[in-house]
Amino acid sequence: MTSLDMLQQKLKESGFSLTAPRRQVFRTIEAEGPCTISEIQEKVSPHVHRASTYRVVQLFERLGIVQRIPMGWKYKLELSDMFTDHHHHAHCTSCDKIVKLEQQSDIEMAIESLARRNHFKLESHSLEMSGICYECSLKKS
Ligand SMILES: [Zn+2]
Ligand SMILES: [Zn+2]
Repeated sequence: MTSLDMLQQKLKESGFSLTAPRRQVFRTIEAEGPCTISEIQEKVSPHVHRASTYRVVQLFERLGIVQRIPMGWKYKLELSDMFTDHHHHAHCTSCDKIVKLEQQSDIEMAIESLARRNHFKLESHSLEMSGICYECSLKKS
C-alpha cells in the first residue's frame, strides 16, 4: 500500500475525496520533510491557490494526516506517525533546521511510565527540543 493509497483511505473514512490540491500538498510535505506552510505554498503554486493550501493543511491536521513540530512560537509540518515511524525532533535555533532524532526505546518507555504514574491515558506525545545543531556548533568554535 503506497502512502497515497493510505491518504485516500484516510480521507474516504472521513467522507473526503482525494482532490488534486490535496494530493499535491501531501506529496510536497512527503518530499520536503518538515516544512512551513509558505514553503509548501512555494512548491504547489501556481497550481494550488494560497487559500486552498491553508484549507488542505487545516483538514490534514484535523484528520491527523500531518502534525506540527513546534519551534518556539512557529511550527513546521510533517506527515504524522501514520505515515512514518514515530520519532522526535530537535530545532536548531541558529540555522532553523529541524534535526530528526533516532528512535530510542528507553525514552518511549519512560514517557509511557510517566503518564501511567500520573493516571494519564496517553494517546500521543511529542517532545520539543531546541539548541545548536552539529554543523552550527562547528562554525561557532
Ligand atoms: Zn544549525
Ligand atoms: Zn516518542
